[in-house]
Amino acid sequence: MNGLTISAKVQEAGVVGAGGAGFPTHIKLSAQAEIVIVNGAECEPLLKTDQQLAALYPQQLIKGLTLAMEATGAKQGIIALKAKYKEAIVALEPYLTEQLQISIMPDTYPAGDEVITIWLTTGRRVPAGKIPIEIGVVVNNVQTLLNVAKACEGEPVTTRTLTVTGAVKNPITVTVPIGTSLREVLELAGGGAEDLVYINGGPMMGKVITDLNDPVTKTTGGLIALPKDHCLIQRKNRTLENILRIAKTVCEQCSFCTELCPRH
Ligand code: SF4
Repeated sequence: MNGLTISAKVQEAGVVGAGGAGFPTHIKLSAQAEIVIVNGAECEPLLKTDQQLAALYPQQLIKGLTLAMEATGAKQGIIALKAKYKEAIVALEPYLTEQLQISIMPDTYPAGDEVITIWLTTGRRVPAGKIPIEIGVVVNNVQTLLNVAKACEGEPVTTRTLTVTGAVKNPITVTVPIGTSLREVLELAGGGAEDLVYINGGPMMGKVITDLNDPVTKTTGGLIALPKDHCLIQRKNRTLENILRIAKTVCEQCSFCTELCPRH
């Protein structure tokens, strides 16, 4: 299958970045690259989707990675994981070759930020204001590449795998049809108490949701149930005015955090 055909099938199947941004994957695969990275860092605490998918479907993941390499002309494929994802590593090892390697990243946050992932796995730095393809790298997460593999078999994206955790009876990772309500997903984990608050996504980057009738989408990262007075919920519910007032009291605008940030 040539690169144009792969990109066309990925577009037709409606594959978008499953990591949260939802960027159309066929655009990434239409570029020419030297390296394709599978971002399996999953460094949002509590979420276990990508590490479990990699352990369950290693052959399909390698297929998705290989197709992404064919589409972009990349000669190297890197699967970025953390050492603690032992089951995923064991499952993927039989498929490794000179061109397809696992890179073990430190168990730190935000190792899964793609700029940091690229630096940790290749030593290349994405210049400030630039994007990965400008240094010859394309990054996709695990679920995205599984969808690429399915797309090339003619299967569109109709399901989403997500972790349901927190104050639920049975924390679980489930695969559900897109459009399933978050309330139905919650029931699959045994439900939660009446007065809980829910985060769509991870504890760090997820957003508080107000309606459990909202549907699961292609980018729903997870569902976390927490008590109303949990510090995470209180933090996420701060008003912009409150955030700015706190920032003004502790930040003298010296810009050191920006200058020294490993992202740059
Ligand atoms: S390092 Fe960053 S947060 Fe701290 S005072 Fe300087 S600009 Fe503000």
